[in-house]
Amino acid sequence: MTSTRFNPSRRQLLAMIGKVAGGAAMYQAMTSLGFAQTSGYSGAVSLQGPREGRRVLILGAGIAGMAAAYEMRRAGYEVRILEYQARQGGRCLTLRGGDRYTEMGGHEIACDFQGDGYFNPGPWRLPVHHRAVFDYCRRLGVPLQPFINKNNKAYLHSASAFDGQPQRIGHVETDMRGHVSELLAKSLNQGDLDNAVSAEDREKLLEGLKEWGVLDSDYRYSVSDDLGEVRGWDIRPGGGLMAEKSPSQPNDLSPLLQSGLWEQLFNFNDYLFEPPMFEPVGGMDAITDAFARDVSDLIRFNARVTRIAQNENGVSITYEDGGRGGEMREETADWCLCTIPLSVLVQLDVDCSDAMRRAIAAVPYASAFKVALEFRRRFWEQDDWIMGGISYTDLPLVQIAYPNYGFLSDGPAVLQAAYDTATAGRTFTYSWSSMTPQERIEAALELGRQIHPQYDAEFMSGTSWVWHRVDWSLGCYGQWTDDLRDEHYETLCEIDNRLVLAGEHCSHIPAWLEGSLLSALDAIKRLDQRENA
Ligand SMILES: Cc1cc2nc3c(=O)[nH]c(=O)nc-3n(C[C@H](O)[C@H](O)[C@H](O)COP(=O)(O)OP(=O)(O)OC[C@H]3O[C@@H](n4cnc5c(N)ncnc54)[C@H](O)[C@@H]3O)c2cc1C
Repeated sequence: MTSTRFNPSRRQLLAMIGKVAGGAAMYQAMTSLGFAQTSGYSGAVSLQGPREGRRVLILGAGIAGMAAAYEMRRAGYEVRILEYQARQGGRCLTLRGGDRYTEMGGHEIACDFQGDGYFNPGPWRLPVHHRAVFDYCRRLGVPLQPFINKNNKAYLHSASAFDGQPQRIGHVETDMRGHVSELLAKSLNQGDLDNAVSAEDREKLLEGLKEWGVLDSDYRYSVSDDLGEVRGWDIRPGGGLMAEKSPSQPNDLSPLLQSGLWEQLFNFNDYLFEPPMFEPVGGMDAITDAFARDVSDLIRFNARVTRIAQNENGVSITYEDGGRGGEMREETADWCLCTIPLSVLVQLDVDCSDAMRRAIAAVPYASAFKVALEFRRRFWEQDDWIMGGISYTDLPLVQIAYPNYGFLSDGPAVLQAAYDTATAGRTFTYSWSSMTPQERIEAALELGRQIHPQYDAEFMSGTSWVWHRVDWSLGCYGQWTDDLRDEHYETLCEIDNRLVLAGEHCSHIPAWLEGSLLSALDAIKRLDQRENA
């Protein structure tokens, strides 16, 4: 008989550590394995500026391109941005009632929200340790509000568990903690862990487990008023002659484990999602709009770059000028900073080293979809007492996110009713990409009513976004693997003669605004050093 040895990859190993020991231990492990670096931001960038007049052409007016323009102009460079779209912001965008967008394939995405709700198809939350983003929000005057990532009253749901009834996050978490504490206490009391824990520590651990897991004097996780204080009540404490309070009933361990809801809890474990998280007031585009207030005079919109040529003295950029009926034009400069996503850049004619060309072609882009639905009233608040946060499900809509603003207000409100990226082999994101916009809304309604039956009575309109049908990004973000990084990352970020690349794909924090900013700041710093060498 052959024996199969399990050789986990770094990622599998991290997932296992996360499941068994929780987020803090996982973060420790991630740091030592080279993932999850905290932001490398150490304060505003300081550039020497050019010794004489120097032109810099920046390609792309997303956050990376605009931040670079903002800093380089302040340092004395003559800056210009070429942007394909008629808007700035790139992937940082917000849809509101009246917005229209034509996706690849020709379908029109209509957003017909009647109220003041909005939808962020891309970025929507800011980890508290993304210091560059916070520093620019402060400097540019972007007001922030808390983003409720984890709300104990939101749901975990499996279509095949608990008769399809969603369970409160707080209930699942308290039950799991209680059952694991009971098991651990049993092992300690049976002496199973005597080799691992000293007698003195054993007593301390048992005492702690009693508190932490809400165990009774026999170290059992069972119904009690103490548990009610932690898990909540079936009959909540009232006033006057109202009914006597009654603690809620915990779920048994086996159905919880079988349900898979426990695994959904790990959506909240990541260091990146550590509370508190934040979001700009009024929509994510507040951040890029704030940059635009400073640099919009530098942007040539409707300019689709098709060729990047360069020699020792400078660059020459060819672009199709949408403002002039698609006329081909050329701009020259001393330096070029290109933030065009690799998925698009790989299709352009670029003068660069063979190694850089291979790097540009090497990184695949993840797929992602989102659907947003507007409802007549905030039934999730009024009926289900869910004030902000996210519910998770094993249905292919994956998550429902509730607005963190306008609590308990009357009138329509918007849910982010489906969202996932094609990580961890979740290929159903491609099914969402292949649907028409109308089919996506119908699918989100069909699936979502299993969690919120109020959907049918309250639905007003919906909209959606699938990132592989966006011609200026052709995907969600650069999906690096360890091997790809080892082979191509440094080449991709190096200055190639007069050209340097930046954007989330040139960072160790891909798929986050922080990564885009840090990559832009690092690129312009190196350009500035080269200029002054
Ligand atoms: C679904 C999703 C969820 C996300 N969630 C978060 C989150 O919660 N928090 C967070 O911080 N980040 C999040 N991100 C990541 C964040 O959106 C990106 O890191 C960031 O917006 C990328 O900025 P960028 O400047 O690097 O690139 P982009 O914003 O893509 O800018 C590139 C620009 O280049 C332009 N361009 C393309 N082709 C051409 C051409 N041929 N000629 C001229 N211009 C061209 C594009 O129009 C675009 O404006 C998310 C992203 C997605 C897609």
